[in-house]
Amino acid sequence: MADVIVVGAGPVGTLVSAELARQGVDVALLERRSAPGEGTRAIGIHSPVLAALEGSGVTERLLASAVRVSRGEARAEGRTLGVVRFDRLDRRFPFVAALPQAGTEAALAAGAPPAKREAEVTAVTPTGRGIRVSLARGDELEAPIVVVAAGWRARSLVYRPRTVRVQPYADRYLMADVHRSRDGDIAVVNVDASGVLESFPLPAGRRRFVAWDAAPGAPGSADRLRTALRERGEHAAAGEVVEATAFEVRRAVAPALRRGGLFVIGDTAHEVSPIGGQGMNLGLLDAVTLAPLLSAWVRTGVEPTLELQRWERRRVASARTAAALATLNTSLGRPLGPAAHAARRAALRLALLPPGARLLAHAYSMGFDRDA
Ligand SMILES: Cc1cc2nc3c(=O)[nH]c(=O)nc-3n(C[C@H](O)[C@H](O)[C@H](O)COP(=O)(O)OP(=O)(O)OC[C@H]3O[C@@H](n4cnc5c(N)ncnc54)[C@H](O)[C@@H]3O)c2cc1C
Repeated sequence: MADVIVVGAGPVGTLVSAELARQGVDVALLERRSAPGEGTRAIGIHSPVLAALEGSGVTERLLASAVRVSRGEARAEGRTLGVVRFDRLDRRFPFVAALPQAGTEAALAAGAPPAKREAEVTAVTPTGRGIRVSLARGDELEAPIVVVAAGWRARSLVYRPRTVRVQPYADRYLMADVHRSRDGDIAVVNVDASGVLESFPLPAGRRRFVAWDAAPGAPGSADRLRTALRERGEHAAAGEVVEATAFEVRRAVAPALRRGGLFVIGDTAHEVSPIGGQGMNLGLLDAVTLAPLLSAWVRTGVEPTLELQRWERRRVASARTAAALATLNTSLGRPLGPAAHAARRAALRLALLPPGARLLAHAYSMGFDRDA
């Protein structure tokens, strides 16, 4: 019997498994999929995560292929409203490391025990002695500690219906990664009357574009993204868009992350709008702060009750902060009529003046996370 069972080999489950194994804990990592996913979602790793993963060597692996984004520019109708400088923050890693999520998952997996694949968990049940994990193929496993990091779809494995309030936003977005763009290694957020178009550098000269979608659900999403790019003068990038990924956004923050030896981290516990880029980072900080407490518990046989309570409070508070920031970002990126848009432009210009710009750089790079 393993000391700890981890459900889900996404970035968060992989990291908690790697950290536990590094600290001498016997871990079983269970994953439903037969192979790692290729799709790219999260692309930015923030400085508190880079600092937290430095000791295990993950940061070095991430930085070997990531682009270092040291500043972001806000624009409206092509004119610069202000600049957010991550390189002016007093941090060990004064930049955002950008790379596709598959690259992050590979860097994390290098230190983790191999996942047992095609192992879909169908139930997680506390028993008198520990936690029983039931698999779709019929077998059952048991361990004193189980960590569920299986993404938002797995929430029903651990929370009763309506325990976690899920708030869908009306906004929809289109996303594509292309080769050409004019903006080099800076992040750009175009806040235009027609809605937001964000773009972020990726390794090998690639760039991620995300646009507010004016006609969600309608056919022709690649055409709409091409139009959004051309309207901002991104003609070369528009010419490269073959298909666009449409996505919707939700907000959910679970009020509790543990019951006895059962722990919930990552997107299973909280979802924040990707407009702000903190969801995976939040989960990685859940994992890296939980692992030493669990390994101390396994090693000594004594539950670190107070430390676990403090961990839970800090992680729930951090998730609420990230969700509030993501809500603000999402609402700032909506289309507006001429008068309201002019007011938004003026307010952003003001907020991006020196003291405000520093605060924004701090906020966008997860400086308000309780474990930063
Ligand atoms: C378009 C988009 C862009 C994003 N951009 C960013 C960004 O820039 N920065 C950022 O920080 N975040 C971003 N995010 C959020 C980020 O992708 C997620 O927060 C992150 O993937 C969550 O990781 P996780 O390990 O908790 O869950 P997941 O990545 O969902 O992984 C869960 C794993 O568990 C497995 N699993 C599920 N159910 C079971 C089961 N029953 N049994 C066994 N295994 C199971 C799944 O197959 C999967 O491998 C973005 C999200 C989207 C949609």
